[in-house]
Amino acid sequence: MILKNVKVFTEEKSFQDGEVAIQDGVFVERMEAEGEEVIDGEGCYAVPGLIDLHFHGCKGYDFCDGTQEAIREIARYEASVGVTAICPATMTLPEEELIHILSTAASYREECGKGEPLAADLLGVNMEGPFISAEKKGAQDAKNIISCDTAVCQRFLDASGGLVKFVGIAPERNGHALEFIRRMKEQVHISLAHTNADYDCAKAAFDAGADHAVHLYNAMPPFTHRSPGVVGAVSDSSHVNAELICDGVHIHPSVVRATFKMLGEERILLISDSMRATGMPDGRYTLGGLEVDVVGNHATLTEGGALAGSATNLMDCMRTAVKQMGIPLETAVACASMNPAKALGVYDAYGSITPGKKGNVVLLDPDLNLKMVIKDGVIIRR
Ligand SMILES: [Zn+2]
Repeated sequence: MILKNVKVFTEEKSFQDGEVAIQDGVFVERMEAEGEEVIDGEGCYAVPGLIDLHFHGCKGYDFCDGTQEAIREIARYEASVGVTAICPATMTLPEEELIHILSTAASYREECGKGEPLAADLLGVNMEGPFISAEKKGAQDAKNIISCDTAVCQRFLDASGGLVKFVGIAPERNGHALEFIRRMKEQVHISLAHTNADYDCAKAAFDAGADHAVHLYNAMPPFTHRSPGVVGAVSDSSHVNAELICDGVHIHPSVVRATFKMLGEERILLISDSMRATGMPDGRYTLGGLEVDVVGNHATLTEGGALAGSATNLMDCMRTAVKQMGIPLETAVACASMNPAKALGVYDAYGSITPGKKGNVVLLDPDLNLKMVIKDGVIIRR
């Protein structure tokens, strides 16, 4: 397949007029075989398939439903909107339930999750709980919060068959968080998540080897001039990546712009944090066992009104970052494809339109409307 007349997103994070060639499901320098399908891209942007590394669900399903059907339907919806690889998140649930969810994901990947063109590839799992802080629980259920524990964490990693890529902790919760980080960091990325840590505590956690911050600004202390908190510690720790929810609800556009200036575009990961109502009508849904009311792109807990994830998929978040927040398209694309691929350790196969990588590409018209999704070299949406 050759996509002609497109603006191709390059590894240097710019657009170049040209074409994209895909053979046997992977990008190639040029076509070898005759008679390949030629598609006129009509001047569209050709961007790598996006990768969402923090979201909970969509289309009425939640990853924590713990069924293969849920994972399959989530993966299909995501692929249909141009998010061709996923790393869904778990909520703060009892250990047995989390073990079941993780082993279901492991068996999904074993049986049907590899290279199905209609569904996004399942690349990992982002664990938001249960090692978090009740003070910053957000929409997580406080009754299931526990202290960070290497034995419990090891059971999670084992149950997932290596799928768990991030484990979130609140380092201020107990005395041995640093020891936990040092012992687990070789196996999994440790993130700071739903935490009330001050600057010193967060900095010590990053110095010990934590390297990821879950939805920066949300469910953590505010960034102020005398108490910079987790945000200041992220700014001062150049090895740490930060997730940003760019749905236009969770973070003010000015703060998103300021964050790009503060951290630079290399360390920012756009995420959707979407819940099951995404792609569904307004109404009452659940998240981690709690009821959530969804109106437009606002999802809030029925009780108390805390923000409960988003109702916006990552493609719409990327579009919002560009059109409503003034983030350059090249930067937003990189932060929703290239950077997540690097953070997940799969940049050799995902995250850019490079010969040898998986043929996952999305065509966007000049107004950023979705025109085509190609997954593994197969057109799945036109
Ligand atoms: Zn959260």
